[in-house]
Amino acid sequence: MPSEITGGCLCGGLRYRAAGTPLNARICHCRQCQKAVGAAFNARILYPSNQVYLEGPYKTRHSSADLLRGFCPECGTSVFTHRVSSDWIGITAGSLDRPEEFKPEAHTWISEKQPWLTIADGLPQFQRMPS
Ligand SMILES: [Zn+2]
Ligand SMILES: [Zn+2]
Repeated sequence: MPSEITGGCLCGGLRYRAAGTPLNARICHCRQCQKAVGAAFNARILYPSNQVYLEGPYKTRHSSADLLRGFCPECGTSVFTHRVSSDWIGITAGSLDRPEEFKPEAHTWISEKQPWLTIADGLPQFQRMPS
């Protein structure tokens, strides 16, 4: 990934940038991500929250006790996740200004992957979330 990423929601009301080295870049196939982003998987880049700068209104909702889903209150775009215990923020790759720069490293929650989706990129696959 580049040293700085920028992006935002569909309507442009919620913008963000993140700087420095991300913790990882993964594609999550869990059912919660499917619901939250309205798609088969959630490609996301994970940063410590102090490397992420959000600008504009957003709302959050817990999808589990430890995970908040952040979205634009105007257009509903799913922009980030916030893991409360570790204070990590995952940016949705689909909301990037340059999504083609996303470089996934692994697939997680393969146990909940949709059967019509075939993964052929050779990346590591984890049945659940690796520790
Ligand atoms: Zn919006
Ligand atoms: Zn997930």
